[in-house]
Amino acid sequence: MFARTAFRAAQPLRQQARRSYASGSSAGTPWGKALLLGGGVTMLGLGGYAYTNTSVPQAKAAASAAAQGEGMSEFLTRSGTSTEGMTPYLKGGEQGWMGLKLESVEDVTHNTKKFSFSLPDPEMVSGVFTTSAILTKCVPEGGDGKPVIRPYTPVSPNNAKGHMDLLVKKYEGGPMSTFLHSMTPGQTLDVKGPLPKYWWSPNKHRHVAMVAGGTGITPMWQLIHEIFADPQSRTKVTLVLGNIKEEDILLKKQLQDLENLFPRQFRVFYTLDDPPEGWKGEKGHVTSELLKQVFPEPKEDNIKLFVCGPPGMMKAVSGPKKSPKDQGELSGILKELGYGQDQVYKF
Ligand SMILES: Cc1cc2nc3c(=O)[nH]c(=O)nc-3n(C[C@H](O)[C@H](O)[C@H](O)COP(=O)(O)OP(=O)(O)OC[C@H]3O[C@@H](n4cnc5c(N)ncnc54)[C@H](O)[C@@H]3O)c2cc1C
Repeated sequence: MFARTAFRAAQPLRQQARRSYASGSSAGTPWGKALLLGGGVTMLGLGGYAYTNTSVPQAKAAASAAAQGEGMSEFLTRSGTSTEGMTPYLKGGEQGWMGLKLESVEDVTHNTKKFSFSLPDPEMVSGVFTTSAILTKCVPEGGDGKPVIRPYTPVSPNNAKGHMDLLVKKYEGGPMSTFLHSMTPGQTLDVKGPLPKYWWSPNKHRHVAMVAGGTGITPMWQLIHEIFADPQSRTKVTLVLGNIKEEDILLKKQLQDLENLFPRQFRVFYTLDDPPEGWKGEKGHVTSELLKQVFPEPKEDNIKLFVCGPPGMMKAVSGPKKSPKDQGELSGILKELGYGQDQVYKF
């Protein structure tokens, strides 16, 4: 028997307060725009903005403006991720390797940077869809001259015009991440794609549950973005996100804002190997107990689980993926909990 009620009661006070506040203001209109403009906005860092004395259009405009800086406007307006009629840069098939110019680099954490690449035409989109990745290629200096190829999932929306952004963690001795971290604006990266992963369509699953570790959040973010930018979306999302330290959590602000905007549709549970004093989330690796408490039960109708993270986490949670085309057998915690092979996708 899954103890979800007990788990909710054990949630940090901060989360409980945030959640009850949000659900109170959104009663009866769980996913509608009323929620976005009523319950959600005051928690987007707008401080004491007095919506009671503000007209709906004014509030809408203020919310949008405030959200712009955080990249949350697409969720407030739920303008979708459609790329129909737009020109894709990456087209797959016989296109081969393409050069992308690095426009800017931003430090995100002590070991992770955000790389923004410009597309040749400001009206172009990357060509990436949900869910898919791109391949990058480099020939590392001092190596054996052989090219190194690695997949990455852009964190910019599929319909972002004129640029494509990657969030990349540097691994000591890791050839591709070291190469990327050495790049400076103006240089060119070889990319290819899109590399199809799990094909998503609106409301394909009733409930999506995700386990991600470290940069394993990026494929999840692509799907999360698709789900919550879509005004017709009813899919619930539960994300369990593991990291070493609190400062390693990527896209944390975006995830928290989305939880506040969609309190009945989106939940995130953080777990840290090395939590700071007073940490209210989970501690240690992802465990069977945690997933049992927060994930939908295996017998529930139309659920899908996604897993992405470092090799150790994959092994423990779902068993490793055999190759890009072979998911490998389901094993580990998810198998023990009773999920079936067809309910789980490994990125
Ligand atoms: C579908 C997909 C999407 C990905 N998207 C991103 C992304 O958006 N951003 C990003 O930074 N990485 C992402 N990765 C991981 C990325 O492809 C590379 O594996 C990573 O950058 C390391 O490459 P490297 O050549 O520098 O090091 P490698 O020589 O490949 O690895 C160096 C060390 O790091 C370990 N390692 C490799 N990958 C991981 C990992 N994901 N987590 C923890 N340890 C690892 C290896 O076991 C090895 O010990 C993604 C992987 C997949 C499969």
